[in-house]
Amino acid sequence: MTRMWYTIPHPDTGVLQRDFTICSWCLANIETIFTPLRGTFVPASPTPCPATCDLVWTSENKRCAAYVELLSDTAAATADTGLRDLRKLAAYVERFARIPECPRDVVVKRPCYTMPNVPEFTVCEECYGETVKPDRQRGAQLAAQFNATPTHLPDGFTCQLYSDRMRRVWQQAIANNDLAFLRLRVAERRTKEKEIGAKMEALRARNEMLRAQAYSYSQMSMIQWQHAFSLNCIANSDLYSTTTTHVSIKFSKVYAI
Ligand SMILES: [Zn+2]
Ligand SMILES: [Zn+2]
Repeated sequence: MTRMWYTIPHPDTGVLQRDFTICSWCLANIETIFTPLRGTFVPASPTPCPATCDLVWTSENKRCAAYVELLSDTAAATADTGLRDLRKLAAYVERFARIPECPRDVVVKRPCYTMPNVPEFTVCEECYGETVKPDRQRGAQLAAQFNATPTHLPDGFTCQLYSDRMRRVWQQAIANNDLAFLRLRVAERRTKEKEIGAKMEALRARNEMLRAQAYSYSQMSMIQWQHAFSLNCIANSDLYSTTTTHVSIKFSKVYAI
């Protein structure tokens, strides 16, 4: 949306962190709740520009919770020390703001990390950065089997590494350097994903059918109502015409007299 957006300058370079933007409503709330942070946010550009608000709160939005926590910690530290240190917040912004948020179970068409030995183990850029990359840097052999750069899959992908359970599986697999164990657990998860997908599809089709039924019932009752209304009109117009006739007969009688 094109409007005024607000961001923070990098604490060391002063460069505006335009990958992290908030709306004026959130800005007002932040400055009311975290008073030591007043004046921290500045316009992301001098004129309205297209962006989105990074503080939209949903149950799925982990980043919003992390941003609010960092803002809260920074405000508390500023109140204690009198110095506003934005480095932790800026570090988080630098690390995550440019990477799209994990799609979890929703199929998306954007680059993902893949492992040629376990092709079904598709991992989003965010989860890769949080989990696989540090393991790779530590020298974990399984982590090194991931392609070094993310690739586009023609049918899109879902993330197989966002849940706590799959992250535990991953840790166990790299601890034992056990590719077979990883392959098995990923296959199990894929089967579950397909089952859930089929159930969701059946549910969606059922809802669609119920909606269509409800629509045809409403159409039917509308037709019935229109029909009843027309009959009533005809009946009424008969009455009117009868009355009118009576009245005219009466008048004609009067005039005749
Ligand atoms: Zn907002
Ligand atoms: Zn993910």
